[in-house]
Amino acid sequence: MTTVYFVVPCYNEEEVLPETIKRLTAKLEKLIAAGKASEDSRMLFVDDGSKDKTWSIIEQYSEENRYVGGVKLSRNRGHQNALLSGLMTAKEHCDCVISLDADLQDDIEVLDEFLDKYEEGCEVVYGVRSSRKKDSFFKRSTAQGYYKFMKLLGVDIVYNHADYRLMGSRALDALSEYDEVNLFLRGIVPLIGYRSDYVYYERNERFAGKSKYPLKKMIRFAIDGITSFSVKPLKLISNLGIIICVLSVIGFIYALVSLCMGVAASGWTSTICSIWFLGGLQMLCIGIVGTYVGKIYHEVKHRPRYRIEKTIINDEETESPID
Ligand code: UDP
Ligand code: MG
Repeated sequence: MTTVYFVVPCYNEEEVLPETIKRLTAKLEKLIAAGKASEDSRMLFVDDGSKDKTWSIIEQYSEENRYVGGVKLSRNRGHQNALLSGLMTAKEHCDCVISLDADLQDDIEVLDEFLDKYEEGCEVVYGVRSSRKKDSFFKRSTAQGYYKFMKLLGVDIVYNHADYRLMGSRALDALSEYDEVNLFLRGIVPLIGYRSDYVYYERNERFAGKSKYPLKKMIRFAIDGITSFSVKPLKLISNLGIIICVLSVIGFIYALVSLCMGVAASGWTSTICSIWFLGGLQMLCIGIVGTYVGKIYHEVKHRPRYRIEKTIINDEETESPID
């Protein structure tokens, strides 16, 4: 029978966690009763350096609920790294892993379908949102525009799929060989290959707590996906380029008006417009190149992506050495 681990990254999720644990436990018990998951299946909550009571909630529940396990990161490393640390820890104990968010926005009623597809031989199963009716208009249009833009850039990404997915141990072994520091899991997983399938579900609203992805973070994550990372000062250059491009348009209008009013020296209009515009364009291009240089800079340093401070699985607690 399949031993499945649910991996749930959590950052300041004290408000949702007790309810999430309750609902997931009920679901896991049903799966076990139905013979779809083995008794050894677990839920692994990754505390991504939360500042609230997230870790103590995980610890407390793990004492009374044997299905609850935890991984505590030494500090906040972001959603993708937290997820990776959970996947890599779970990989050692199970046949397959299903990753999902702590707020249960992803419908857990379709977990059966994930496991059925795994039984049929799929190594990766992607959870795909069948509609985004519950998202705000802004989130829906920007997210969908983003997926289309990624496709246009030739990035192989599953449309309307976030990080709700099942991965078998072979896919996880493959994932562990991707060493990049600039982690964008939904871009990497399709590169792994193997047989895959989709499960469609309705995305719910967060039942408590706030989104940990405010607009600013969302934009940042989006840019990471395209270039894998960007370095602020380098990005500033491209922003400056855009501003100059806009100013050059205003300048262009001003120069045209001057020309029409006959106050401009002949040849001045075209010269000044091209200087402004090309200056802006060059800065923008340097900025884009710089973004990629910045990404190389981070990859070359190859810093560890996360550090696990503590792991709880079953009732045994292991503390990893801190160096
Ligand atoms: N998360 C995390 N580290 C972070 C930010 C978020 O582990 O630095 C987790 C968060 O606890 C949640 C998941 O990532 O389980 C997705 O975040 P959220 O639900 O806030 O994003 P949204 O659904 O609004 O895009
Ligand atoms: Mg969410």
